[in-house]
Amino acid sequence: MRRAIYPGSFDPVTNGHLDIIERGSKLFDEIVVAILVNPEKRALFSIEERRAMIEEAAAGVRTDGCVVRVDSFQGLLVRYAVEQQADAIVRGIRAVSDYEYELQMALMNRRLEPRVETVFLTAAAAYSYVSSRLVKEIYQLGGPIDGLVPAPVEARMRAKFDAG
Ligand code: ADP
Repeated sequence: MRRAIYPGSFDPVTNGHLDIIERGSKLFDEIVVAILVNPEKRALFSIEERRAMIEEAAAGVRTDGCVVRVDSFQGLLVRYAVEQQADAIVRGIRAVSDYEYELQMALMNRRLEPRVETVFLTAAAAYSYVSSRLVKEIYQLGGPIDGLVPAPVEARMRAKFDAG
């Protein structure tokens, strides 16, 4: 039984995140998509909204037998990973710019907790330029985001921005 934690902000979940979940499902029996609760970072969507969007979107991902669960956590990622009895932390790498930060985090996490391995999965080329931040910016400026996020996310973005 191999369990991985896929941590992130997921504000909101994008097709790039879903692609990483699908790739990860080929390597692990269970993936816990873990939303980081970070009071310092202003988010567009609440933790509950983000959780609902991930659950809805992940239901449409082909994960052949791998269980995908959504959770949230606070504090040290490696501590959470040990609590969850996870073998690995999964992170997605889009470009060299991601790698520098991710390498630093992976090495620090290894120092803090050598039992938990970090696994980097490379993004699909089609989504390698997609980020939650950019999706929000484009939407706010009136640009199209179809194909970048799952349909339920687009609907929630519309509802959120239309509500002001
Ligand atoms: P964080 O704030 O931790 O970077 P994100 O929600 O932005 O949270 O990203 C979570 C993880 O998913 C990170 O490892 C990030 O590199 C990866 N990721 C984000 N967007 C994509 C994408 N389009 N393709 C592949 N991986 C991605």
